[in-house]
Amino acid sequence: MRKILSSFYLVLAITFFIGGQAVLAQTVGLKIDYTVTVSDPSTQQFHISTDIKNINQPRLDLSLPTWTPGWYTVENYFKNVLRFRITDGSGKILPHTMSRKQTWNVGTKGIKEIKVDYDYQATVLALNQAKITKDFAFFTGIELFLQAEGHRDEPSTVHFAIPSGWKIVSALKETNDPMVFTADNYDTLVDAPTELGNFDVTKFEVEGKLHYFVANPAGTFSAEKAQKFTEMVAKVAKVDSAIFGGLPYEKYCYFYFFSPPESNASGALEHLNSFVAFAPPGSIATPEMIIGTAAHEFFHLWNVKRIRPAEMWPYDYSRENETPLLWVSEGFTNYYGNVARYRAGLMTPDTFLQSAADAASGIENTEARHYISPAESSVSTWAGYDTPVAFGISYYTQGQNLGALLDLSIRQDTEGKSGLDDVMRALFNDFYKRGTGFTTEDMIGIINRLTKKDYHDFYRQYVFGTDVPDYDRIFGYAGYRLEKKTQQVPEFGIGLRNRNGGLMVSSIDPNSSAASSGLKVGDVVTKVNGEVPARVAFGTLAGKTITLTVNRGGIESEIPMKVGSRDVTGYSLADGANLSDQQRRIRDGWLKR
Ligand SMILES: [Zn+2]
Repeated sequence: MRKILSSFYLVLAITFFIGGQAVLAQTVGLKIDYTVTVSDPSTQQFHISTDIKNINQPRLDLSLPTWTPGWYTVENYFKNVLRFRITDGSGKILPHTMSRKQTWNVGTKGIKEIKVDYDYQATVLALNQAKITKDFAFFTGIELFLQAEGHRDEPSTVHFAIPSGWKIVSALKETNDPMVFTADNYDTLVDAPTELGNFDVTKFEVEGKLHYFVANPAGTFSAEKAQKFTEMVAKVAKVDSAIFGGLPYEKYCYFYFFSPPESNASGALEHLNSFVAFAPPGSIATPEMIIGTAAHEFFHLWNVKRIRPAEMWPYDYSRENETPLLWVSEGFTNYYGNVARYRAGLMTPDTFLQSAADAASGIENTEARHYISPAESSVSTWAGYDTPVAFGISYYTQGQNLGALLDLSIRQDTEGKSGLDDVMRALFNDFYKRGTGFTTEDMIGIINRLTKKDYHDFYRQYVFGTDVPDYDRIFGYAGYRLEKKTQQVPEFGIGLRNRNGGLMVSSIDPNSSAASSGLKVGDVVTKVNGEVPARVAFGTLAGKTITLTVNRGGIESEIPMKVGSRDVTGYSLADGANLSDQQRRIRDGWLKR
Protein backbone atom coordinates (compact mmCIF):
# COMPACT_ATOMS: atom_id res chain seq x y z
CA MET A 1 0.00 0.00 0.00
CA ARG A 2 1.12 3.42 -0.83
CA LYS A 3 0.12 6.35 1.32
CA ILE A 4 -1.50 9.23 -0.48
CA LEU A 5 -0.61 12.68 0.80
CA SER A 6 -3.45 15.14 0.63
CA SER A 7 -1.26 18.11 -0.35
CA PHE A 8 0.20 16.65 -3.48
CA TYR A 9 -0.06 13.57 -5.61
CA LEU A 10 2.71 11.48 -6.88
CA VAL A 11 1.70 10.56 -10.34
CA LEU A 12 3.41 7.73 -12.00
CA ALA A 13 2.42 7.28 -15.59
CA ILE A 14 3.44 4.19 -17.45
CA THR A 15 2.78 3.61 -21.08
CA PHE A 16 2.02 0.08 -22.11
CA PHE A 17 2.00 -0.92 -25.74
CA ILE A 18 -0.57 -3.63 -26.33
CA GLY A 19 -1.00 -4.79 -29.90
CA GLY A 20 0.51 -1.54 -31.19
CA GLN A 21 -2.05 0.53 -29.30
CA ALA A 22 -0.84 2.83 -26.59
CA VAL A 23 -2.87 2.63 -23.41
CA LEU A 24 -1.95 5.14 -20.79
CA ALA A 25 -2.26 3.74 -17.30
CA GLN A 26 -1.73 5.59 -14.09
CA THR A 27 -0.91 3.54 -11.00
CA VAL A 28 -1.51 5.98 -8.15
CA GLY A 29 -3.52 8.92 -7.13
CA LEU A 30 -7.29 8.51 -7.57
CA LYS A 31 -9.58 9.57 -4.76
CA ILE A 32 -12.58 7.24 -4.82
CA ASP A 33 -15.74 7.81 -2.76
CA TYR A 34 -18.78 5.57 -2.95
CA THR A 35 -22.15 6.59 -1.54
CA VAL A 36 -24.77 3.91 -0.95
CA THR A 37 -28.27 5.29 -0.52
CA VAL A 38 -31.45 3.50 0.51
CA SER A 39 -34.07 6.23 0.23
CA ASP A 40 -37.23 4.18 -0.23
CA PRO A 41 -36.95 0.49 0.73
CA SER A 42 -40.18 -0.31 -1.13
CA THR A 43 -38.41 0.29 -4.47
CA GLN A 44 -35.86 -2.43 -3.58
CA GLN A 45 -33.17 -0.29 -5.20
CA PHE A 46 -29.88 0.95 -3.89
CA HIS A 47 -28.55 4.14 -5.40
CA ILE A 48 -24.79 4.06 -5.86
CA SER A 49 -22.77 7.19 -6.53
CA THR A 50 -19.09 6.82 -7.27
CA ASP A 51 -17.04 10.04 -7.11
CA ILE A 52 -13.64 9.70 -8.69
CA LYS A 53 -11.25 12.63 -8.34
CA ASN A 54 -7.62 13.39 -9.32
CA ILE A 55 -7.95 11.68 -12.67
CA ASN A 56 -4.83 12.09 -14.77
CA GLN A 57 -5.26 9.75 -17.71
CA PRO A 58 -7.08 10.06 -21.06
CA ARG A 59 -9.45 7.15 -20.48
CA LEU A 60 -10.89 5.43 -17.45
CA ASP A 61 -12.21 1.87 -17.56
CA LEU A 62 -14.86 1.04 -14.94
CA SER A 63 -15.97 -2.51 -14.28
CA LEU A 64 -18.35 -4.50 -12.11
CA PRO A 65 -17.51 -8.07 -11.02
CA THR A 66 -19.31 -11.00 -12.60
CA TRP A 67 -18.98 -13.44 -9.67
CA THR A 68 -18.42 -13.60 -5.93
CA PRO A 69 -15.22 -15.30 -4.72
CA GLY A 70 -16.15 -18.49 -2.88
CA TRP A 71 -19.41 -18.93 -4.79
CA TYR A 72 -18.08 -20.30 -8.06
CA THR A 73 -20.86 -19.18 -10.38
CA VAL A 74 -20.96 -16.31 -12.87
CA GLU A 75 -23.87 -14.02 -11.96
CA ASN A 76 -23.18 -10.91 -14.10
CA TYR A 77 -24.15 -8.30 -11.52
CA PHE A 78 -24.50 -5.71 -14.27
CA LYS A 79 -27.91 -7.23 -15.04
CA ASN A 80 -29.25 -5.55 -11.89
CA VAL A 81 -28.00 -2.06 -12.82
CA LEU A 82 -30.46 0.67 -13.86
CA ARG A 83 -29.97 4.27 -15.05
CA PHE A 84 -26.18 4.07 -15.44
CA ARG A 85 -24.81 7.55 -16.08
CA ILE A 86 -21.45 9.29 -15.94
CA THR A 87 -21.09 13.05 -15.42
CA ASP A 88 -18.11 15.38 -15.06
CA GLY A 89 -17.37 17.78 -12.21
CA SER A 90 -19.87 20.31 -13.54
CA GLY A 91 -22.66 17.77 -13.90
CA LYS A 92 -22.39 17.45 -17.68
CA ILE A 93 -23.13 13.99 -19.00
CA LEU A 94 -20.05 12.22 -20.37
CA PRO A 95 -20.47 9.67 -23.15
CA HIS A 96 -19.30 6.15 -22.38
CA THR A 97 -18.95 2.90 -24.27
CA MET A 98 -19.30 -0.63 -23.04
CA SER A 99 -16.27 -2.70 -24.07
CA ARG A 100 -17.04 -5.91 -22.17
CA LYS A 101 -20.31 -7.10 -20.66
CA GLN A 102 -19.39 -5.46 -17.34
CA THR A 103 -16.88 -2.78 -18.35
CA TRP A 104 -17.53 0.83 -19.34
CA ASN A 105 -14.94 3.13 -20.91
CA VAL A 106 -15.12 6.88 -20.48
CA GLY A 107 -12.86 9.47 -22.10
CA THR A 108 -11.24 11.60 -19.40
CA LYS A 109 -8.77 13.66 -21.40
CA GLY A 110 -8.52 17.00 -19.56
CA ILE A 111 -11.11 15.83 -17.02
CA LYS A 112 -10.06 15.64 -13.38
CA GLU A 113 -13.18 14.24 -11.81
CA ILE A 114 -16.21 12.21 -12.74
CA LYS A 115 -19.28 10.92 -10.99
CA VAL A 116 -20.94 7.62 -11.85
CA ASP A 117 -24.55 7.11 -10.79
CA TYR A 118 -26.80 4.10 -11.03
CA ASP A 119 -29.51 2.22 -9.22
CA TYR A 120 -29.06 -1.41 -8.28
CA GLN A 121 -32.06 -3.71 -8.10
CA ALA A 122 -31.76 -5.77 -4.91
CA THR A 123 -34.49 -8.38 -4.80
CA VAL A 124 -32.77 -11.67 -3.92
CA LEU A 125 -31.69 -12.65 -0.43
CA ALA A 126 -28.77 -14.99 -1.11
CA LEU A 127 -25.09 -15.31 -0.29
CA ASN A 128 -23.98 -13.76 -3.57
CA GLN A 129 -26.84 -11.31 -4.12
CA ALA A 130 -28.23 -8.10 -2.64
CA LYS A 131 -31.65 -7.54 -1.08
CA ILE A 132 -33.73 -4.69 0.29
CA THR A 133 -36.86 -5.28 2.35
CA LYS A 134 -38.88 -2.91 4.51
CA ASP A 135 -36.82 -4.03 7.51
CA PHE A 136 -33.29 -4.33 6.20
CA ALA A 137 -30.87 -4.12 3.30
CA PHE A 138 -28.02 -6.53 2.63
CA PHE A 139 -25.21 -6.53 0.12
CA THR A 140 -21.61 -7.56 -0.29
CA GLY A 141 -19.47 -4.94 -2.04
CA ILE A 142 -18.97 -7.30 -4.99
CA GLU A 143 -22.46 -6.62 -6.38
CA LEU A 144 -22.48 -2.85 -6.01
CA PHE A 145 -19.05 -1.30 -6.38
CA LEU A 146 -17.31 -0.30 -9.60
CA GLN A 147 -13.61 -0.87 -10.01
CA ALA A 148 -11.50 1.84 -11.63
CA GLU A 149 -9.26 -0.49 -13.58
CA GLY A 150 -5.56 -0.03 -13.01
CA HIS A 151 -6.32 1.41 -9.55
CA ARG A 152 -7.14 -1.79 -7.72
CA ASP A 153 -4.67 -1.17 -4.88
CA GLU A 154 -5.97 2.27 -4.01
CA PRO A 155 -8.08 2.94 -0.90
CA SER A 156 -11.66 4.14 -1.00
CA THR A 157 -14.36 5.51 1.28
CA VAL A 158 -17.96 4.32 1.55
CA HIS A 159 -20.69 6.69 2.78
CA PHE A 160 -24.17 5.48 3.74
CA ALA A 161 -27.49 7.34 3.54
CA ILE A 162 -30.20 5.13 5.04
CA PRO A 163 -33.67 5.45 6.62
CA SER A 164 -33.62 6.92 10.12
CA GLY A 165 -33.49 4.33 12.87
CA TRP A 166 -31.65 1.79 10.73
CA LYS A 167 -28.47 0.24 12.14
CA ILE A 168 -25.29 -0.52 10.19
CA VAL A 169 -22.94 -3.42 10.63
CA SER A 170 -20.30 -3.70 7.92
CA ALA A 171 -17.15 -5.75 7.58
CA LEU A 172 -15.60 -2.57 6.13
CA LYS A 173 -13.23 -0.55 8.29
CA GLU A 174 -15.02 1.79 10.72
CA THR A 175 -14.31 5.52 11.08
CA ASN A 176 -15.36 8.10 13.68
CA ASP A 177 -18.45 8.77 11.59
CA PRO A 178 -20.91 5.83 11.94
CA MET A 179 -22.11 6.48 8.37
CA VAL A 180 -18.64 6.30 6.83
CA PHE A 181 -16.41 3.27 6.30
CA THR A 182 -13.17 2.72 4.41
CA ALA A 183 -11.42 -0.03 2.47
CA ASP A 184 -7.67 -0.32 1.95
CA ASN A 185 -8.07 -1.46 -1.66
CA TYR A 186 -10.68 -2.69 -4.12
CA ASP A 187 -10.33 -6.35 -3.09
CA THR A 188 -11.15 -5.66 0.55
CA LEU A 189 -13.93 -3.26 -0.52
CA VAL A 190 -15.80 -5.93 -2.44
CA ASP A 191 -15.13 -8.75 0.05
CA ALA A 192 -17.06 -7.02 2.83
CA PRO A 193 -20.76 -7.66 3.48
CA THR A 194 -22.89 -4.89 4.97
CA GLU A 195 -26.25 -5.16 6.71
CA LEU A 196 -28.44 -2.10 7.20
CA GLY A 197 -31.72 -1.94 9.10
CA ASN A 198 -33.26 -3.72 12.05
CA PHE A 199 -31.60 -6.87 13.37
CA ASP A 200 -30.01 -8.15 16.59
CA VAL A 201 -26.34 -7.44 17.23
CA THR A 202 -24.19 -9.10 19.91
CA LYS A 203 -20.72 -7.62 20.33
CA PHE A 204 -17.93 -9.58 21.98
CA GLU A 205 -14.16 -9.61 22.12
CA VAL A 206 -11.71 -12.37 21.27
CA GLU A 207 -8.02 -11.75 21.90
CA GLY A 208 -8.76 -8.04 22.24
CA LYS A 209 -10.51 -7.81 18.86
CA LEU A 210 -14.11 -6.80 18.32
CA HIS A 211 -16.52 -9.42 16.96
CA TYR A 212 -20.10 -8.83 15.84
CA PHE A 213 -22.79 -11.51 15.74
CA VAL A 214 -25.64 -10.23 13.59
CA ALA A 215 -28.93 -12.13 13.74
CA ASN A 216 -31.73 -11.41 11.26
CA PRO A 217 -34.76 -11.25 11.61
CA ALA A 218 -34.59 -9.36 14.91
CA GLY A 219 -35.96 -11.14 17.95
CA THR A 220 -35.97 -14.68 16.55
CA PHE A 221 -32.66 -16.13 17.82
CA SER A 222 -32.87 -15.53 21.57
CA ALA A 223 -30.29 -13.55 23.55
CA GLU A 224 -29.48 -16.71 25.54
CA LYS A 225 -28.75 -18.66 22.38
CA ALA A 226 -26.72 -15.75 21.01
CA GLN A 227 -24.69 -15.62 24.21
CA LYS A 228 -23.95 -19.34 24.07
CA PHE A 229 -23.12 -19.24 20.37
CA THR A 230 -20.68 -16.35 20.76
CA GLU A 231 -18.92 -18.27 23.54
CA MET A 232 -18.59 -21.26 21.21
CA VAL A 233 -17.28 -19.29 18.23
CA ALA A 234 -14.83 -17.48 20.52
CA LYS A 235 -13.38 -20.86 21.55
CA VAL A 236 -13.07 -21.89 17.91
CA ALA A 237 -11.39 -18.56 17.07
CA LYS A 238 -8.79 -19.08 19.81
CA VAL A 239 -7.98 -22.61 18.60
CA ASP A 240 -7.49 -21.40 15.02
CA SER A 241 -5.55 -18.36 16.18
CA ALA A 242 -3.11 -20.67 18.01
CA ILE A 243 -2.37 -22.51 14.75
CA PHE A 244 -1.45 -19.33 12.88
CA GLY A 245 -0.06 -17.13 15.65
CA GLY A 246 -2.89 -14.63 16.02
CA LEU A 247 -6.08 -13.34 14.45
CA PRO A 248 -5.14 -11.51 11.22
CA TYR A 249 -7.93 -8.91 11.24
CA GLU A 250 -9.04 -5.82 13.13
CA LYS A 251 -12.62 -7.00 13.59
CA TYR A 252 -14.77 -9.95 12.54
CA CYS A 253 -18.50 -10.14 11.66
CA TYR A 254 -20.76 -13.21 11.75
CA PHE A 255 -23.84 -12.38 9.63
CA TYR A 256 -26.70 -14.84 10.19
CA PHE A 257 -30.02 -15.03 8.39
CA PHE A 258 -32.39 -17.26 10.33
CA SER A 259 -34.60 -17.37 7.27
CA PRO A 260 -34.59 -19.20 3.93
CA PRO A 261 -32.40 -17.99 1.07
CA GLU A 262 -34.05 -16.97 -2.18
CA SER A 263 -31.66 -18.65 -4.62
CA ASN A 264 -29.37 -21.67 -4.72
CA ALA A 265 -26.70 -19.53 -3.02
CA SER A 266 -27.62 -20.90 0.40
CA GLY A 267 -25.51 -22.33 3.20
CA ALA A 268 -22.70 -19.98 4.13
CA LEU A 269 -20.00 -17.93 2.45
CA GLU A 270 -16.61 -16.84 3.72
CA HIS A 271 -15.11 -13.39 3.42
CA LEU A 272 -11.85 -11.74 4.50
CA ASN A 273 -13.02 -10.80 8.01
CA SER A 274 -16.59 -12.09 8.07
CA PHE A 275 -18.95 -14.74 6.82
CA VAL A 276 -22.62 -14.84 5.91
CA ALA A 277 -24.77 -17.84 6.79
CA PHE A 278 -28.32 -19.05 6.37
CA ALA A 279 -29.76 -21.09 9.24
CA PRO A 280 -33.11 -22.64 10.17
CA PRO A 281 -35.65 -20.26 11.77
CA GLY A 282 -34.33 -18.71 15.01
CA SER A 283 -36.95 -20.52 17.10
CA ILE A 284 -35.63 -23.90 15.86
CA ALA A 285 -31.92 -23.20 15.33
CA THR A 286 -29.62 -23.91 18.26
CA PRO A 287 -25.95 -22.97 18.77
CA GLU A 288 -25.04 -26.68 18.49
CA MET A 289 -26.88 -26.88 15.17
CA ILE A 290 -24.98 -24.02 13.57
CA ILE A 291 -21.49 -24.25 15.13
CA GLY A 292 -20.26 -26.77 12.53
CA THR A 293 -20.78 -24.39 9.63
CA ALA A 294 -19.41 -21.50 11.70
CA ALA A 295 -16.17 -23.39 12.43
CA HIS A 296 -15.81 -24.20 8.72
CA GLU A 297 -16.41 -20.62 7.57
CA PHE A 298 -14.14 -19.15 10.22
CA PHE A 299 -11.19 -21.32 9.15
CA HIS A 300 -11.67 -19.96 5.63
CA LEU A 301 -10.40 -16.57 6.78
CA TRP A 302 -7.01 -18.23 6.52
CA ASN A 303 -7.63 -21.06 4.08
CA VAL A 304 -8.78 -19.54 0.74
CA LYS A 305 -9.14 -15.92 1.80
CA ARG A 306 -5.42 -15.61 2.64
CA ILE A 307 -3.88 -19.01 1.85
CA ARG A 308 -5.12 -18.88 -1.72
CA PRO A 309 -4.50 -20.94 -4.86
CA ALA A 310 -2.21 -19.06 -7.24
CA GLU A 311 -4.86 -19.18 -10.00
CA MET A 312 -7.05 -16.89 -7.86
CA TRP A 313 -4.29 -14.47 -6.88
CA PRO A 314 -5.39 -11.89 -7.70
CA TYR A 315 -9.04 -12.75 -8.34
CA ASP A 316 -10.16 -12.10 -11.90
CA TYR A 317 -13.67 -10.76 -11.29
CA SER A 318 -14.49 -10.67 -14.99
CA ARG A 319 -14.50 -14.42 -15.62
CA GLU A 320 -14.28 -17.91 -14.14
CA ASN A 321 -11.09 -18.59 -12.14
CA GLU A 322 -10.38 -22.32 -12.37
CA THR A 323 -7.93 -23.90 -9.92
CA PRO A 324 -7.03 -27.54 -9.19
CA LEU A 325 -6.70 -26.72 -5.48
CA LEU A 326 -10.25 -26.36 -4.14
CA TRP A 327 -9.84 -29.80 -2.52
CA VAL A 328 -7.41 -27.93 -0.21
CA SER A 329 -9.42 -24.71 0.06
CA GLU A 330 -12.69 -26.47 0.90
CA GLY A 331 -11.66 -29.97 1.94
CA PHE A 332 -9.01 -28.92 4.46
CA THR A 333 -11.48 -26.33 5.73
CA ASN A 334 -13.95 -29.14 6.36
CA TYR A 335 -11.22 -31.08 8.15
CA TYR A 336 -10.15 -28.08 10.24
CA GLY A 337 -13.74 -27.16 11.02
CA ASN A 338 -13.85 -30.50 12.87
CA VAL A 339 -10.31 -30.19 14.26
CA ALA A 340 -11.13 -26.74 15.68
CA ARG A 341 -14.37 -27.87 17.28
CA TYR A 342 -12.61 -30.92 18.71
CA ARG A 343 -9.70 -28.90 20.11
CA ALA A 344 -12.15 -26.30 21.47
CA GLY A 345 -13.88 -29.06 23.47
CA LEU A 346 -17.04 -28.79 21.36
CA MET A 347 -16.71 -32.29 19.88
CA THR A 348 -15.91 -35.61 21.59
CA PRO A 349 -12.92 -37.72 20.50
CA ASP A 350 -15.33 -40.38 19.23
CA THR A 351 -17.20 -37.88 17.06
CA PHE A 352 -13.93 -36.49 15.72
CA LEU A 353 -12.70 -39.98 14.78
CA GLN A 354 -16.08 -40.78 13.24
CA SER A 355 -15.91 -37.62 11.12
CA ALA A 356 -12.64 -38.87 9.62
CA ALA A 357 -14.15 -42.31 8.98
CA ASP A 358 -17.27 -40.73 7.48
CA ALA A 359 -15.19 -38.73 5.00
CA ALA A 360 -13.48 -41.94 3.89
CA SER A 361 -16.75 -43.84 3.51
CA GLY A 362 -18.33 -40.83 1.80
CA ILE A 363 -15.66 -41.06 -0.89
CA GLU A 364 -15.47 -44.84 -1.20
CA ASN A 365 -19.23 -45.21 -1.60
CA THR A 366 -19.27 -42.82 -4.56
CA GLU A 367 -18.80 -44.36 -8.00
CA ALA A 368 -17.34 -41.13 -9.43
CA ARG A 369 -14.30 -41.44 -7.13
CA HIS A 370 -12.87 -43.96 -9.64
CA TYR A 371 -13.12 -41.44 -12.48
CA ILE A 372 -12.78 -37.90 -11.11
CA SER A 373 -9.69 -36.87 -9.13
CA PRO A 374 -9.81 -34.17 -6.42
CA ALA A 375 -7.85 -31.86 -8.75
CA GLU A 376 -10.38 -32.44 -11.53
CA SER A 377 -13.46 -31.91 -9.37
CA SER A 378 -11.84 -28.65 -8.20
CA VAL A 379 -11.39 -27.31 -11.73
CA SER A 380 -14.79 -28.45 -12.95
CA THR A 381 -16.75 -26.82 -10.13
CA TRP A 382 -17.68 -23.90 -12.37
CA ALA A 383 -19.87 -26.28 -14.36
CA GLY A 384 -21.69 -27.66 -11.35
CA TYR A 385 -21.51 -25.33 -8.38
CA ASP A 386 -25.02 -24.00 -8.66
CA THR A 387 -26.74 -26.82 -10.48
CA PRO A 388 -26.28 -30.57 -10.16
CA VAL A 389 -24.14 -32.40 -12.73
CA ALA A 390 -24.92 -35.88 -14.02
CA PHE A 391 -21.84 -37.48 -12.50
CA GLY A 392 -19.75 -35.83 -9.83
CA ILE A 393 -17.94 -36.03 -6.55
CA SER A 394 -17.39 -33.36 -3.93
CA TYR A 395 -13.92 -31.90 -3.47
CA TYR A 396 -15.14 -30.93 0.00
CA THR A 397 -15.22 -34.59 1.07
CA GLN A 398 -12.29 -35.61 -1.15
CA GLY A 399 -10.11 -32.93 0.46
CA GLN A 400 -11.42 -33.58 3.98
CA ASN A 401 -10.43 -37.22 3.56
CA LEU A 402 -7.00 -36.35 2.15
CA GLY A 403 -6.52 -33.77 4.93
CA ALA A 404 -6.73 -36.47 7.60
CA LEU A 405 -4.55 -38.86 5.58
CA LEU A 406 -1.89 -36.19 4.96
CA ASP A 407 -1.98 -35.09 8.59
CA LEU A 408 -1.33 -38.66 9.77
CA SER A 409 1.30 -39.33 7.08
CA ILE A 410 3.27 -36.21 7.97
CA ARG A 411 3.05 -37.08 11.67
CA GLN A 412 4.31 -40.60 10.85
CA ASP A 413 7.19 -39.34 8.69
CA THR A 414 8.30 -36.78 11.28
CA GLU A 415 7.83 -39.11 14.26
CA GLY A 416 5.13 -36.83 15.57
CA LYS A 417 7.11 -33.59 15.33
CA SER A 418 5.03 -32.03 12.52
CA GLY A 419 1.55 -32.31 11.11
CA LEU A 420 -0.86 -30.57 8.76
CA ASP A 421 -0.91 -27.52 11.09
CA ASP A 422 2.71 -26.90 10.09
CA VAL A 423 1.80 -27.09 6.39
CA MET A 424 -1.03 -24.56 6.82
CA ARG A 425 1.20 -22.24 8.85
CA ALA A 426 3.95 -22.44 6.20
CA LEU A 427 1.44 -21.69 3.41
CA PHE A 428 0.28 -18.66 5.41
CA ASN A 429 3.74 -17.34 6.27
CA ASP A 430 5.65 -18.20 3.10
CA PHE A 431 2.99 -17.31 0.53
CA TYR A 432 0.17 -15.10 1.84
CA LYS A 433 2.45 -12.91 3.94
CA ARG A 434 4.70 -12.49 0.94
CA GLY A 435 1.75 -11.37 -1.15
CA THR A 436 1.27 -14.40 -3.35
CA GLY A 437 -0.87 -17.47 -3.94
CA PHE A 438 0.40 -21.05 -3.75
CA THR A 439 0.61 -23.88 -6.25
CA THR A 440 0.42 -27.65 -5.80
CA GLU A 441 4.20 -27.78 -6.23
CA ASP A 442 4.64 -25.17 -3.46
CA MET A 443 2.59 -27.33 -1.12
CA ILE A 444 4.50 -30.50 -1.97
CA GLY A 445 7.72 -28.54 -1.36
CA ILE A 446 6.57 -27.64 2.17
CA ILE A 447 5.61 -31.24 2.98
CA ASN A 448 8.87 -32.58 1.55
CA ARG A 449 10.84 -30.08 3.62
CA LEU A 450 8.99 -31.11 6.81
CA THR A 451 9.16 -34.86 6.21
CA LYS A 452 12.45 -35.10 4.27
CA LYS A 453 10.52 -37.44 1.95
CA ASP A 454 9.09 -37.01 -1.53
CA TYR A 455 5.28 -36.61 -1.56
CA HIS A 456 5.00 -36.32 -5.35
CA ASP A 457 3.72 -39.91 -5.47
CA PHE A 458 1.00 -39.15 -2.91
CA TYR A 459 -0.22 -36.27 -5.08
CA ARG A 460 0.08 -38.30 -8.31
CA GLN A 461 -1.95 -41.16 -6.84
CA TYR A 462 -4.60 -39.41 -4.76
CA VAL A 463 -4.81 -35.78 -5.89
CA PHE A 464 -4.32 -35.99 -9.65
CA GLY A 465 -5.18 -39.69 -9.75
CA THR A 466 -8.06 -41.75 -8.44
CA ASP A 467 -6.17 -44.46 -6.52
CA VAL A 468 -7.86 -45.75 -3.39
CA PRO A 469 -5.65 -44.93 -0.39
CA ASP A 470 -4.41 -47.71 1.86
CA TYR A 471 -6.60 -46.57 4.76
CA ASP A 472 -5.55 -49.30 7.17
CA ARG A 473 -1.89 -48.43 6.72
CA ILE A 474 -2.39 -44.68 7.17
CA PHE A 475 -4.97 -44.77 10.00
CA GLY A 476 -2.75 -47.52 11.40
CA TYR A 477 -0.04 -44.91 12.00
CA ALA A 478 -2.22 -43.80 14.93
CA GLY A 479 -3.16 -47.36 15.86
CA TYR A 480 -6.59 -47.44 14.20
CA ARG A 481 -8.05 -49.74 11.61
CA LEU A 482 -11.12 -49.20 9.48
CA GLU A 483 -14.09 -51.29 10.40
CA LYS A 484 -16.59 -51.68 7.59
CA LYS A 485 -20.24 -52.37 8.09
CA THR A 486 -22.95 -52.51 5.49
CA GLN A 487 -25.90 -50.34 6.38
CA GLN A 488 -29.03 -49.15 4.69
CA VAL A 489 -29.27 -45.48 3.84
CA PRO A 490 -32.38 -43.75 2.54
CA GLU A 491 -32.76 -42.88 -1.12
CA PHE A 492 -35.27 -40.08 -1.50
CA GLY A 493 -34.79 -39.77 -5.24
CA ILE A 494 -35.25 -36.00 -5.12
CA GLY A 495 -32.98 -32.98 -5.17
CA LEU A 496 -33.90 -30.35 -2.59
CA ARG A 497 -33.03 -26.71 -2.14
CA ASN A 498 -33.76 -24.50 0.85
CA ARG A 499 -36.34 -22.12 -0.51
CA ASN A 500 -39.59 -20.30 0.24
CA GLY A 501 -39.88 -21.45 3.84
CA GLY A 502 -39.17 -25.11 3.15
CA LEU A 503 -37.30 -27.51 0.92
CA MET A 504 -38.01 -26.91 -2.73
CA VAL A 505 -37.90 -29.96 -4.99
CA SER A 506 -35.29 -29.13 -7.66
CA SER A 507 -35.06 -32.52 -9.36
CA ILE A 508 -36.76 -35.91 -9.26
CA ASP A 509 -35.05 -39.17 -10.17
CA PRO A 510 -37.36 -40.74 -12.80
CA ASN A 511 -36.85 -44.25 -11.37
CA SER A 512 -37.61 -43.34 -7.78
CA SER A 513 -40.68 -43.73 -5.64
CA ALA A 514 -40.71 -39.93 -5.43
CA ALA A 515 -41.56 -39.89 -9.13
CA SER A 516 -44.51 -42.24 -8.65
CA SER A 517 -45.69 -40.39 -5.52
CA GLY A 518 -46.87 -37.45 -7.62
CA LEU A 519 -44.26 -35.00 -6.28
CA LYS A 520 -43.32 -32.32 -8.84
CA VAL A 521 -40.27 -30.09 -9.38
CA GLY A 522 -41.07 -26.73 -7.76
CA ASP A 523 -43.09 -28.24 -4.90
CA VAL A 524 -42.02 -26.90 -1.52
CA VAL A 525 -41.87 -29.51 1.25
CA THR A 526 -42.80 -27.69 4.45
CA LYS A 527 -43.14 -30.69 6.76
CA VAL A 528 -42.06 -34.33 6.92
CA ASN A 529 -44.28 -36.52 9.12
CA GLY A 530 -45.66 -33.30 10.61
CA GLU A 531 -42.21 -31.94 11.59
CA VAL A 532 -40.34 -29.01 10.04
CA PRO A 533 -37.44 -30.35 7.91
CA ALA A 534 -34.75 -28.94 10.24
CA ARG A 535 -35.99 -31.29 12.98
CA VAL A 536 -36.21 -34.46 10.85
CA ALA A 537 -33.58 -37.20 11.17
CA PHE A 538 -33.55 -38.05 7.46
CA GLY A 539 -30.91 -40.77 7.94
CA THR A 540 -33.38 -42.97 9.81
CA LEU A 541 -36.05 -43.04 7.11
CA ALA A 542 -34.68 -45.76 4.78
CA GLY A 543 -37.50 -48.01 3.55
CA LYS A 544 -40.19 -46.16 5.51
CA THR A 545 -43.34 -44.54 4.21
CA ILE A 546 -43.40 -40.85 5.09
CA THR A 547 -45.96 -38.10 4.71
CA LEU A 548 -44.78 -34.92 3.03
CA THR A 549 -46.67 -31.70 3.55
CA VAL A 550 -46.26 -29.94 0.24
CA ASN A 551 -47.04 -26.43 -0.93
CA ARG A 552 -47.76 -26.25 -4.64
CA GLY A 553 -48.70 -22.83 -5.98
CA GLY A 554 -50.05 -21.77 -2.59
CA ILE A 555 -52.13 -24.88 -2.05
CA GLU A 556 -51.04 -27.24 0.69
CA SER A 557 -51.52 -30.99 0.46
CA GLU A 558 -50.16 -34.15 1.98
CA ILE A 559 -48.31 -36.64 -0.18
CA PRO A 560 -47.35 -40.08 1.12
CA MET A 561 -44.05 -41.41 -0.24
CA LYS A 562 -42.12 -44.62 0.28
CA VAL A 563 -38.46 -43.85 0.84
CA GLY A 564 -36.09 -46.08 -1.09
CA SER A 565 -32.99 -47.55 0.42
CA ARG A 566 -29.55 -48.56 -0.70
CA ASP A 567 -26.71 -50.44 0.94
CA VAL A 568 -23.58 -48.47 1.70
CA THR A 569 -20.44 -49.51 3.48
CA GLY A 570 -20.15 -47.43 6.62
CA TYR A 571 -16.68 -46.98 8.11
CA SER A 572 -15.61 -46.47 11.66
CA LEU A 573 -12.17 -46.30 13.24
CA ALA A 574 -11.54 -49.19 15.59
CA ASP A 575 -8.83 -49.30 18.18
CA GLY A 576 -5.94 -51.55 17.23
CA ALA A 577 -4.54 -53.78 19.94
CA ASN A 578 -1.18 -53.14 21.63
CA LEU A 579 -0.07 -49.79 20.28
CA SER A 580 3.64 -49.32 19.58
CA ASP A 581 5.38 -46.28 21.06
CA GLN A 582 5.29 -44.62 17.64
CA GLN A 583 1.55 -45.31 17.20
CA ARG A 584 0.89 -43.94 20.68
CA ARG A 585 2.92 -40.81 19.87
CA ILE A 586 1.07 -40.23 16.58
CA ARG A 587 -2.34 -40.78 18.17
CA ASP A 588 -1.59 -38.50 21.13
CA GLY A 589 -0.38 -35.78 18.76
CA TRP A 590 -3.39 -36.12 16.46
CA LEU A 591 -5.89 -36.05 19.33
CA LYS A 592 -4.08 -33.46 21.46
CA ARG A 593 -6.22 -30.58 22.67
ZN1 LIG B 1 -16.22 -23.56 2.53
